[in-house]
Amino acid sequence: MDSVVQQYLEQFGVCEATQRFLAKPQKMLIGGTWIAQGDRESFAVIEPSTAGVITHIPLGTMADLDRAVEAARQQFDGGAWRRLKPLERERLLHRLADLIEANATELAEIESIDVGKSVANARDVDIQGTVDTFRYFAGWASKLHGRTVEPSLPGDYVAYTRKEPIGVIGVIVPWNFPLQTMAWKVAAALATGCTTVIKPAELTSLSTLRFAELVQEAGIPDGVVSVITGRGRDIGAAMAAHPGIDKITFTGSTEVGRTVGHTAASGIKRLTLELGGKSPVLVLDDADIEAAAQAVANGIFFNSGQVCDAGTRVYVQRGIHDKFMGALIEHTRSLKIAPGLDRDCFISPLVSALQMDRVASYIEAGRREGAELVHGGRVLDRPGYFVEPTIFAHCRSGMKIVREEIFGPVLVTTPFDDLGDALSQANDSPYGLAAAIYSNDLNRVHRLIPQLRAGTVYVNAHSTIDPSMPFGGFKASGFGKDLGPEQLDHLMESKAVWITLR
Ligand code: NAD
Repeated sequence: MDSVVQQYLEQFGVCEATQRFLAKPQKMLIGGTWIAQGDRESFAVIEPSTAGVITHIPLGTMADLDRAVEAARQQFDGGAWRRLKPLERERLLHRLADLIEANATELAEIESIDVGKSVANARDVDIQGTVDTFRYFAGWASKLHGRTVEPSLPGDYVAYTRKEPIGVIGVIVPWNFPLQTMAWKVAAALATGCTTVIKPAELTSLSTLRFAELVQEAGIPDGVVSVITGRGRDIGAAMAAHPGIDKITFTGSTEVGRTVGHTAASGIKRLTLELGGKSPVLVLDDADIEAAAQAVANGIFFNSGQVCDAGTRVYVQRGIHDKFMGALIEHTRSLKIAPGLDRDCFISPLVSALQMDRVASYIEAGRREGAELVHGGRVLDRPGYFVEPTIFAHCRSGMKIVREEIFGPVLVTTPFDDLGDALSQANDSPYGLAAAIYSNDLNRVHRLIPQLRAGTVYVNAHSTIDPSMPFGGFKASGFGKDLGPEQLDHLMESKAVWITLR
């Protein structure tokens, strides 16, 4: 670990468990065995508030992947996991949730140090969300069943359906909510009786490696959950093509999702894609301006804008435009920019130098295209990857900053006169992950909801996520759902059984 990271940990007094975890060599969990780097390549993990090296993770090989898949297959095709009764699966998932909760401080610190994110948000959102997700899906394990059917065919039959787990699930996740996004996929898969091979994002594998220790501690049989760290273009691509994997559940960019989709389709693999977004926000002239401004600012700047369903394009009705923009800027000014481990931090650094440069290039593009910069716009001159929360006004629909996913703290705003026109602009995007409306007029709100082409519509809120509600996109934001009972349908096959009675 670089001394600058060590000083950072000391400055904010991270717990002993976190220090111990970060100090030891990182290993992958493959089929119940911890695999050290050995002669594999490794990847330096960088702490985003200081730009110092935290540790190194091994880069998994194709042989590692084969071993992980084989172990998952064995457990699925008749191993201890397949023979477990539903209530026993439920009990194990609850035990895992309890362990995650018991280690929440450490996991939140690891997530903050690895991603750069606010430690308070990591605790309240990422880790609590992970615990809730395991508890929610634990309850489903004993409640999955088919239907008995009375057919109208001549003759006598017993006809029923069975819900059967799909098999080995390849889990590929991005770096913005590493533990929580993984949990959405793994908790549901385990509840149905599937087994899993997880590939975290190379930038942020640490919390998933700590999670793998808790999986063992919970008593989940070896091979049911393997974690292979490695590069997306190598291990991720090989997972999409692997004949031993029955389904890929992928969260990440639309660009990579398209490639994964092509490969998975050629192997007739089941597939869920949770992809990028450019979510629109409509602020109507009857909205509570102060509350809307605060929620809109949080809706884009939470996790420094590195949120797939962040409200990135705001359309404000002309009558309240200036007042709303004033309130928005004032609230944004109050958001503290600080290192992730600072408990008061709201705007944390971006995950990497690459992401910081990418966001900076979009800000530059906005300036060049003539959008009016009304707040922020600078990369901070300090160690780490800090970009000010940035707001552009009077943006036009063709601009690059309006069309493309930036995945950083950059908000584009546009006034509107006609609600129909604003709706067209809101829907004028290849993406369809989420949308938000701020208004107190129920008639207008209910008429707008069905017309917004998005997987989630928030009203007077943003990014309210709960395991009981499905999450997933329309259009180029993907297909299939995570969370809610809807996700379970994507993890089970329906088998029709016909029995002739004589
Ligand atoms: P990314 O697509 O670059 O990477 C996502 C994952 O895919 C990583 O684990 C990466 O290693 C792996 N990967 C990379 N190349 C691969 C390949 N050729 N084959 C298989 N796997 C490969 O995305 P990112 O930069 O990590 O994350 C940001 C993106 O994720 C944004 O577009 C964001 O909108 C999206 N995202 C979507 C959701 C959602 O629920 N819809 C949630 C979070 C993030």
